[in-house]
Amino acid sequence: MPKSELLSCVGQQVTLSPIRINDDGEGVATLEGVTIFVPHLLPGEVANVRVQSAGRSFLRGEMIERLGTESKDRVHPPCSVFGQCGGCQLQHLSYRGQLLHKQKVVEHHLRRSLRGLTAIENLQVQPTIASPSPYGYRNHVQIPVRYDGQKDKLLFGFYAPSSHELVPTEDCWLISPRLMLLWQVVRKGMETWPRELKAAIHHLHLREAVATGQQMIIWAVQAEYEKVVEHIQNFYQNLESSLRKLLTVGINRTSHETDRPNSRRADILAGSSWIEEELLGVRFRLSAESFFQVNSAQAEQLYRHVIDRLQKHSATRLLDAYSGTGTLSLLLSPYAKTVVGVESVRASVENARQNAEINHIFNVQFIEDTVEHWLPRQISDNDSFDTILVDPPRKGLHSEVISAILKANPQTFLYVSCNPVTLARDLRPFAENGYQITSVQPFDMFPQTSHVECVVATYRVGK
Ligand code: SAH
Repeated sequence: MPKSELLSCVGQQVTLSPIRINDDGEGVATLEGVTIFVPHLLPGEVANVRVQSAGRSFLRGEMIERLGTESKDRVHPPCSVFGQCGGCQLQHLSYRGQLLHKQKVVEHHLRRSLRGLTAIENLQVQPTIASPSPYGYRNHVQIPVRYDGQKDKLLFGFYAPSSHELVPTEDCWLISPRLMLLWQVVRKGMETWPRELKAAIHHLHLREAVATGQQMIIWAVQAEYEKVVEHIQNFYQNLESSLRKLLTVGINRTSHETDRPNSRRADILAGSSWIEEELLGVRFRLSAESFFQVNSAQAEQLYRHVIDRLQKHSATRLLDAYSGTGTLSLLLSPYAKTVVGVESVRASVENARQNAEINHIFNVQFIEDTVEHWLPRQISDNDSFDTILVDPPRKGLHSEVISAILKANPQTFLYVSCNPVTLARDLRPFAENGYQITSVQPFDMFPQTSHVECVVATYRVGK
């Protein structure tokens, strides 16, 4: 249907029933042969839907009223802003349903990308491993803050889907109960701040280490830097000593209110410059800007799985590309002669080096560089890696990185992915060049959201 005809559907009311859920957690139905996405409608349910907008080849609808019986997988979303806030997409789907959905998403993308290759014949995607907690699992949150000058009220909340529009709330079901308490303490503390300082704050960044209970608060400000510093110091001094003992406070100057608070270095005003987490017996110091998995208990299960995959083929030289604060490099160091971690964010590399030191691990080296710049220059016939592990951000692997890995020709190649679309795209050249996929294991790192984490192990057959 041409776009003009799609546009003419906007405003119509129709009765629909979705056949599946898409990657974003929306119900997918068809209307006169055109795909239409309807948030919060589950397969098998029937609803009255208003067509809201038209894309190039699809429509988007809004559920007005559900008709008939609800899906047996439907549950009541506990959060009062579910549907308005962009944080969660799947609270209306039972946890069992979410796990099954995520397994299907991985399978769908892999089958589509590997079409026509022999790799697909034995492809088996394992059932998704559940998060130890389906709620209250986040050890880290960035909370946008706005100031309503007329009512002299600070507004905290999260952004609406695909926007920077604040959905006010003073609650989040995903963050850990201890971080929720910390948020309340900060909110109360800020109530007495002068108006111009309230207006200067645009983000709160809260983080905790589950193993040690240490916590961190970073305020992101656009103006009034010196005065905010003074107020943060007062806030800190007025806290109970039991809370202060475990707390780091800091400030981050940013140029725009939608800047992420950790895009620059924070100034630490009180407490230690890091918090310390422990996973599988290894300690990890994390500074405000460093990457760390947000679900510590599930990260432990994922890392255990990666160790199990690699233990089978002990490595001589192991490359951990996109190494963050060195988690996988350090956890895998007992199973390799030497490990090289490559990471582009300086704060993470500094943490990683320090983490090697405090854990007395000496066979690991960390390089501060982008993988696409560093790796192609490293690969030579006599100085290569027999095991390569990648854990890239959502955009996946740069084509130069794929070529370099294929040239390195490792025996084992492991891909830890947070985006099944780029994972499937990137795996195709490996499947075409003699790598057999030996396991595909999805993990639910982010329950209630549509995000899917997955570990794929591949093994080179032949030369
Ligand atoms: N493996 C680590 C981190 C994975 S997250 C862990 O499990 O904790 C991905 C990491 O890649 C982040 O630390 C990010 O800073 C880093 N990164 C992003 N783009 C990069 C690039 N082009 N080159 C190197 N590192 C990059």
